[in-house]
Amino acid sequence: MYHWQIEGSKKTSVDDMVLLTKITEDAITDNLKRRLMEDKIYTYIGPVLVAVNPFKQLPYFGEKELEMYQGAATYEVPPHIYAVADTMYRNMLIDSDNQCVIISGESGAGKTVSAKFIMNYITKVSQGSYKVQHIKDIILESNPLLEAFGNAKTTRNNNSSRFGKYIEIQFSRGGEPLGGKISNFLLEKSRVHSLNEGERSFHIFYQLCAGATKTMVEQLGITTPDYFQYLAQSGVYKVDNMNDAHDFQETLNAMSVMGIEEDTQMDILRIVAAILHMGNITFAEKGNAAYIVSPDYLQYPAYLLGVSAESLGQKLVSRVFDSKWGSQSERVDVTLNMEQAQFTRDAWTKGLYARLFDYIVDMINQAMMTDANLINLGILDIYGFEIFGKNGFEQFCINYSEQEEYNAEGIQWKPIKYFDNKIVCELIESKRPPGIMSILDDTCATMSAKSEGADEDFHRKMESLVGTHPHYQKFNQGFMIKHYAGNVSYHIDSFCEKNRDVLFSDIIEVMQSSTNPFICSLFNDSAQTGAMGRPPVGNTKARHEAKGRPTTAGMKIRTQANELVTTLTKCVPHYIRCIKPNETKKPHDWDSQMVKHQVEYLGLKENIKVKRAGFAYRRPFHKFLQRYAILSSQTWPNWHGSPQEAINVIMATINMDTEQYQIGRTKVFIKDPESLYMIEECRERK
Ligand code: ATP
Ligand code: MG
Repeated sequence: MYHWQIEGSKKTSVDDMVLLTKITEDAITDNLKRRLMEDKIYTYIGPVLVAVNPFKQLPYFGEKELEMYQGAATYEVPPHIYAVADTMYRNMLIDSDNQCVIISGESGAGKTVSAKFIMNYITKVSQGSYKVQHIKDIILESNPLLEAFGNAKTTRNNNSSRFGKYIEIQFSRGGEPLGGKISNFLLEKSRVHSLNEGERSFHIFYQLCAGATKTMVEQLGITTPDYFQYLAQSGVYKVDNMNDAHDFQETLNAMSVMGIEEDTQMDILRIVAAILHMGNITFAEKGNAAYIVSPDYLQYPAYLLGVSAESLGQKLVSRVFDSKWGSQSERVDVTLNMEQAQFTRDAWTKGLYARLFDYIVDMINQAMMTDANLINLGILDIYGFEIFGKNGFEQFCINYSEQEEYNAEGIQWKPIKYFDNKIVCELIESKRPPGIMSILDDTCATMSAKSEGADEDFHRKMESLVGTHPHYQKFNQGFMIKHYAGNVSYHIDSFCEKNRDVLFSDIIEVMQSSTNPFICSLFNDSAQTGAMGRPPVGNTKARHEAKGRPTTAGMKIRTQANELVTTLTKCVPHYIRCIKPNETKKPHDWDSQMVKHQVEYLGLKENIKVKRAGFAYRRPFHKFLQRYAILSSQTWPNWHGSPQEAINVIMATINMDTEQYQIGRTKVFIKDPESLYMIEECRERK
């Protein structure tokens, strides 16, 4: 005999939105809101997990939950990211199929946090020997290391990922993690020298300033961040709830876990410091020729980079062009003007940083490398769709790659019915007729070494070639694209330079002549590196496309996006949709307008409809009764009897056809979705 007090009220939310009575964007938004207010951040749409960022620590990520979700049936436990992780892990073991989870959502929605929860869960529940434990440490410690070098405070997110990442964890057939690999995409390297208002550069710069040991202070010339122009330009040094000195220790520790020796750690930090010091070199102009305002400022960076102050200074204010670009070849000796000198300094520092970042990714990969042919589980945490005050080439690439990812999911569903994402992808990447990327590459192929007028040329060509496209619109300084997630205006400034993305060969030569072997090793190729650094691990060599042209940043991201899609289509996909409830970053603050917009472009309504069509409803007795006991005065608010009887009473009260449901041992089964909706509707009328 059971005796219970039935809990819950009519106004409770549904934990699977397939159960919503009305499927409208408002109903979805409202359901998510109700749940967030009760600190329930996870909601399903069938197997898809919707995660709302709570902007506070919630108590259900402990040992108890790790235990509870292992092998648990989805409907017996509340929705949780651990359930997704568990399903992935078990599917992989049972079916021997590769799995991947695609985490999407806008900047600050919680993608990286979600990725970490998954990695944590998987490493906790998988067994393994001492050696396996070491691999787990590397996998987990790769996070703080990559975040130190690849994340930054933006206006939208205090810990925004400024690169995309696909991490694969490789398992033995028995489910032990034996290795892994990381592919990184499109580091926003211009952040090294240019900051928007209210933003910071990459965390590592502030970490070093806050946490440097006495030796580092002395050897690297470290002081407070306001001394360094690159950091001082935005004047933002601190981030709420972030302790740079503490994080610095974590970064160093993570490097040690990767097997990076202390000497090499110092080499890495030397480059970080050199970049900061280089940023303090300023220029003035006499006639049209730039000169260095205080040559003293050359000493420190030159010392740190292992080159002479003379050669550093000389390369900043003059250049020997020896560039081959397409069929053109020119050799020009020029003195640079002030703007060009600044540009050179910044190209130099961001080139250094990009190579350093790639080196770090390489080190992580080496530490995790395994030759065994295994099954894997991949986690895609790609940057969120972005609209900033001023959008440039980087935002263009980010929004493009995010869009590609949606196309990949087209295998499963179309995100938004009325929005044909394909048209926009074509606008950007079509070869013939040429799309924006092709037009950009063509412009780069014919632009002069000094790139004067190239952006304007690109602007004009776009107008004549894609000017009439329904998703394209020209304005004075740039163009607007109607993306699935919103309209974004891009400023045309430096598009060509950033796409061409060459580090001048004479700078590379200076770096190769460094007395510091570590720096030489970063530059031991004569080839350029692109905006995204090296292609993903396991990738073929960067491709040279048409007519032997050098690879542009745009080509690379296209290649990477296509390869990623290929990888993802070989896995069983799982989806997490992250939602950002407000711009204030405060808990329990709900901006309905903002959420509704995300619900729309994440295609949640369409998701629900698709899922509903193939829905077979089953629920444990207590769950069913919690929700529907209210339908009969016999079972509400108190009931003395078995749950089976209670269910029969309820079904009889609402005149449910007895063919439509069956009572199992622990669960009630409902045959048609219509019957389920009928029950829901009865509840709604109550
Ligand atoms: P970006 O595209 O900018 O990298 P993102 O989607 O990766 O954004 P996160 O960095 O994961 O966003 O989340 C932003 C912040 O929101 C986190 O630093 C954290 O403070 C908070 N947050 C996100 N998810 C959670 C969560 N589940 N619990 C607590 N806080 C969270
Ligand atoms: Mg992130």
